[in-house]
Amino acid sequence: MKPPPFDYARAESVDEAVALLARHDGGAKLLAGGQSLVPMLNFRLVHPSILVDVNRIPGLAAIEAGTGGLRIGALARHRRLEVSAAIAERFPVLRSAVRHVAHLAIRNRGTLGGSLAHADPAAELPMMTLLLDATMEVSGPAGPRRIAAREFFRSALTTALGDAEMLVRVELPFLPAGTGWGFEEVARRAGDFALAAAAATLTPGADGNVAEARLAVMGAHDTPLRITAAEALLAGGPPDGEAVRAAARAARDAVEPYDDLHASADLRRHLVEVLARRALDAAARRAREEAARGAPEGAA
Ligand SMILES: Cc1cc2nc3c(=O)[nH]c(=O)nc-3n(C[C@H](O)[C@H](O)[C@H](O)COP(=O)(O)OP(=O)(O)OC[C@H]3O[C@@H](n4cnc5c(N)ncnc54)[C@H](O)[C@@H]3O)c2cc1C
Repeated sequence: MKPPPFDYARAESVDEAVALLARHDGGAKLLAGGQSLVPMLNFRLVHPSILVDVNRIPGLAAIEAGTGGLRIGALARHRRLEVSAAIAERFPVLRSAVRHVAHLAIRNRGTLGGSLAHADPAAELPMMTLLLDATMEVSGPAGPRRIAAREFFRSALTTALGDAEMLVRVELPFLPAGTGWGFEEVARRAGDFALAAAAATLTPGADGNVAEARLAVMGAHDTPLRITAAEALLAGGPPDGEAVRAAARAARDAVEPYDDLHASADLRRHLVEVLARRALDAAARRAREEAARGAPEGAA
């Protein structure tokens, strides 16, 4: 398939990219890694009048550690997230997730910002920003604004971004020391989009019970979901046994999957429950290991 005709512009700055988006009034699309946009063009699912290439904007791929968290530029490639020492140290759960994104060739091009803006319901990185309580830094004609990940994903392939807004950076607040994590996914073949996935963190309190639980799932709903009912079930108790099973059932009950060529809705619901349980079990195990090691700072 061939794409419809379009103009091309290379933006040298975020302001220039935003100005081009605004000038074309919904007819322009940003081009980042092109790993989702180009197939959509080729299938003629989108018809932009102009592509605004943001690949040469300086500084947009940086990963910077501050006192409270990591700031990751929208143009950071998936591969960069995979090999970043800062991410390995502070967010191993994110590194585990990004290894499941497509194949290496795609991870070499695809970007964090592109994945979040595209908002595929079966994409790993949107779920991870939800799990990690990320804040999106956005730039638009009215200036910068910040959007919590919980407000960002509206429905399949739809976000809170306006037509002339660009996602510039993502902030991930550090997790408390001693936090355990788990990431579990099922796909038909390595590199395929997931049928379903779950990610969890468990932060123990001084008494060993759960001070904070987080659980997110994807692939079985039109957006990634935080399972707040499961988190409430786990808080204050020991992270094992019936509490984990009940939390996993809460995840299954929260999703509204659909039947498609790849899996029935029932299978996806079942996968969500199993993967949520495994992710929570892994998080509990890692939290115990951290406690046994004396929970060095930034262990999550
Ligand atoms: C064969 C194949 C398998 C794949 N498997 C997976 C998978 O398993 N998991 C997964 O998560 N993804 C998968 N992908 C998608 C891949 O991860 C893409 O890299 C990602 O979805 C889009 O990132 P991109 O940088 O390529 O964005 P692009 O394709 O360049 O853009 C995607 C959309 O986001 C918009 N956009 C881009 N950057 C910004 C920005 N900074 N601000 C606002 N809007 C922006 C574009 O205008 C476009 O609408 C797969 C892709 C292919 C081709």
